[in-house]
Amino acid sequence: MTCLIAYHDGDKTDERQHGWQMRLTAYLPGCQLVPLADNAADDAEIALVWGPPDGRLAELSQLKLAVSLGQGVDHLMVPGKLPDDIPLIRIVDPDMSHALSQWVILAALDHLRDGPMYREQARQRIFSSHSQRQTRGLPLAVYGMGAIGSMIATRLADIGFQVHGWSRSERPQAGVITMHHGHAGFDKLLSTCQLHVCILPLTDETWHIFGADAFAAMPRGAYFINGGRGAQVDEAALLQAIVSGHIAGATLDVFEHEPLPDNHPFWDESRITIWPHVAAQTNPETAAQQVADAIMAMQAGHVPANLVDRQRGY
Ligand code: NDP
Repeated sequence: MTCLIAYHDGDKTDERQHGWQMRLTAYLPGCQLVPLADNAADDAEIALVWGPPDGRLAELSQLKLAVSLGQGVDHLMVPGKLPDDIPLIRIVDPDMSHALSQWVILAALDHLRDGPMYREQARQRIFSSHSQRQTRGLPLAVYGMGAIGSMIATRLADIGFQVHGWSRSERPQAGVITMHHGHAGFDKLLSTCQLHVCILPLTDETWHIFGADAFAAMPRGAYFINGGRGAQVDEAALLQAIVSGHIAGATLDVFEHEPLPDNHPFWDESRITIWPHVAAQTNPETAAQQVADAIMAMQAGHVPANLVDRQRGY
């Protein structure tokens, strides 16, 4: 089956394109990936992209399907990125949920077991203990209970946290995880949980959802972890909440502007742990089959899986 796929992955195109070409060829022997920037991409039916340049996808006259190279699709929901009539699907890879849940556990336990303090002591050759925080049954909120959030929540419950999940729609209790939704649910979790994990998609509704009021509503000493998107946080408000001592600190993988600018005040705040958007990376090895399945479904006239609801924004 022949199939021309326009490919763009930010500035990392060459090596990754080769990886996708190899993996996709195993399922779609006739497929050919070409860089989105090349004229050859003008006839592509499929776009496999992360952060394509404004207006470029609208130039592909044969385009029938766009595939986000990540689980988040906010990079394609900006006006001018993707024509309204082109269906968009996203990768939903259990390996991403696995990687992100490990990252959240690492961040949560590093804070709760005083990793930064003991690493600093070790740097100074100080062998001295402090009392251990009691973490069993600690109330913890997971904002976003989709493909990734639900795995994070389950695993955090497995290691002894009292886990509360927050979703947009009303959902039944998921095992030992108590579910909440809507504004009332959000306010309740803010005020009752000590650890706050954000793994929401970025939409109009979630933009700056964690602002000054949200941080003020958290109990004193609460900790914030963001693996969702940077623009869900009012960064100045978070910094202020940490500097004032109300919030104990934060571990952040995502930022409103990436790469995080050199002069950003987060770099100078030791209570903020910065990760360069690596909590979970798309892996062609585990994701290629579902991309191929989506292309074959589209070519057969069926609706592919993991279709993004463009009205809802995720
Ligand atoms: P899903 O679409 O599967 O789940 C999204 C969840 O968020 C759903 O539970 C949804 O509610 C909830 N939600 C959405 N909007 C709202 C709202 N306004 N109020 C309350 N809840 C809301 O997404 P994934 O789990 O696959 O991915 C989540 C996000 O993780 C991605 O969009 C991306 O931004 C981020 N991500 C980050 C990575 C990293 O490396 N840092 C890697 C991969 C993804 P409902 O269940 O009712 O629909």
